[in-house]
Amino acid sequence: MTEENQKKVDILSLSLKEIEDIILLLGEKKFRAKQIWQWLHIKKVRNFDKMSNLSAQFRNKLSNAFCIKSLIISKRLASDIDNTVKYLYELPDGNHIETVLMEYNHGYSLCVSTQVGCKMGCKFCASTIAGFKRNLEPSEILLQIYETERDSGKKVSSIVLMGIGEPLDNFENVIKFLEILSDKDGSNMSLRHVSLSTCGIVPRIYDLADKNYGLTLSISLHATTNATRGEIMPVNNKYNINELITACKYYLRKTGRRISFEYALINGVNDSMEQAVQLSKLLRGMQSHVNIIPINKIKEHKFTSDRKSAKRFQEYLIDLGVNATVRRTLGSDIDAACGQLRRDYEI
Ligand code: SAH
Repeated sequence: MTEENQKKVDILSLSLKEIEDIILLLGEKKFRAKQIWQWLHIKKVRNFDKMSNLSAQFRNKLSNAFCIKSLIISKRLASDIDNTVKYLYELPDGNHIETVLMEYNHGYSLCVSTQVGCKMGCKFCASTIAGFKRNLEPSEILLQIYETERDSGKKVSSIVLMGIGEPLDNFENVIKFLEILSDKDGSNMSLRHVSLSTCGIVPRIYDLADKNYGLTLSISLHATTNATRGEIMPVNNKYNINELITACKYYLRKTGRRISFEYALINGVNDSMEQAVQLSKLLRGMQSHVNIIPINKIKEHKFTSDRKSAKRFQEYLIDLGVNATVRRTLGSDIDAACGQLRRDYEI
């Protein structure tokens, strides 16, 4: 992005109301904001010159005040085993993120990143290895959807905030993204089709519950005792399992939405019968769902797992009355599976 553009307001990160306020300051009529909004979020133009129902003079004013950001596809990798496609996107400042398009029976789902890198330090995850660079702007989260739909020709019907980064560590921008995404005059996506995954930033779980968006909250639990969880997930040393589960109960009470618990299974670390029993106790009375993920390989760690142990752990849980499934792993041949995404693709 040119230096000149960097000084302009990033219009794709603004709500309709914010655009209206600026339009009025520019001496134009309020209804113009909705026209601009529809060009941006329905017709998805990348240039003010394309907004043909606005006068040339007004379009000029707009391009002096605002910029329309875009992402560049640096790499596109298609899986040979399923229809997963991983995109490496270059952001306007030259940083990179990854986005994954997955095909399910019910349609296409897009896994989007929320930060450049991650500071959470989970021991099994590739996204944290090169460290944290910066938060993504609302526009940069949104553009992962727009650019992927444009490139693939597919309509995305659900979004999972499970790419690089910790969404609740970029709370304000993620909230803004959700509001833009669900705007009735724009993309109009029901937030029931959005899942947000967190490693457990407890205060923000309360904040999210209070928003009552109806989205699905996924908790990356991965262990049943503070000792084990603290070892593989440093965030647990700040917000422990009890605090996390209490926040989850609040979320459930407040929103009525069943919580999904992610459990990345690691041989010899969290896969015993005893741990299944502890898990069933933790989740008692919560109408939750456990998603077991056999840990995906990344070259920096030696954790292993397989579908057989995942199936066995699932059986333990089902016998204990816990609703549990083993997640289908998509895109593992192109390092597009859970925990395999990174901001620095050469590392
Ligand atoms: N920071 C958020 C969003 C990332 S979502 C979170 O922690 O939830 C990515 C999901 O993949 C999380 O559940 C994460 O714990 C999990 N994950 C990370 N590395 C993994 C790996 N190697 N194998 C399987 N799952 C992994």
